[in-house]
Amino acid sequence: MRLLIVEDERKTREYLQQGLSEAGFVVDTAASGDEGLSLASTQAYDLLILDIMLPGLNGFEILKALRDRGNTTPVLFLSARDLVEDRVRGLELGADDYLVKPFSFSELLARVRTLLRRGRTIDSNMAEVADLQVDFLKRRVTRGGLRIDLTAKEFALLELLLRRKTEVLPRSLIASQVWDMNFDSDTNVVEVAIRRLRSKIDDHCDVKLIKTVRGMGYVLEDPIEP
Ligand code: CA
Repeated sequence: MRLLIVEDERKTREYLQQGLSEAGFVVDTAASGDEGLSLASTQAYDLLILDIMLPGLNGFEILKALRDRGNTTPVLFLSARDLVEDRVRGLELGADDYLVKPFSFSELLARVRTLLRRGRTIDSNMAEVADLQVDFLKRRVTRGGLRIDLTAKEFALLELLLRRKTEVLPRSLIASQVWDMNFDSDTNVVEVAIRRLRSKIDDHCDVKLIKTVRGMGYVLEDPIEP
């Protein structure tokens, strides 16, 4: 597994490189946005770890340039700021995860491993869980071979659940990523949307894929082979 770290702070860069190398990864580093984009464009990586504020191109610009060229390598953003706009923007551009500084190395390592596992089980355009199949590019959903029509929001919700399958997603996270809004406890928009999505993909099937985890959120998984 080969990783690229793009981080201009020398201490952080070296600390991450050393830790991830010790954890068994092959690690390349870049100290500027331009160098990072050039490496990410010419080498094959399993994961990119991008700082946001960088000399030259920033992390968002690197990600956008890569996605525009069809590069789907998973991206984990590092940011000194925890601004919801930053997070939403990064996720809209196609980042896979987001870590706010300061973070512990064990937290980073856990995220890296999750992303790499996910990258192997879901390619960026297709996902399959039990007999549910989703083509993200064509926005086509089938269950047991039968076509299912979803609204744009239902599709976005299903995509989020699939891309983070087996992870329990809190309502607040779903609200911020699917509706671009901060979760307001007065609204039950997430619950209503989950109910609609279930009525389309789960209710007519014996095997239910969307599970409610009481007090925590929702998770999509194959109950037989999670
Ligand atoms: Ca920086």
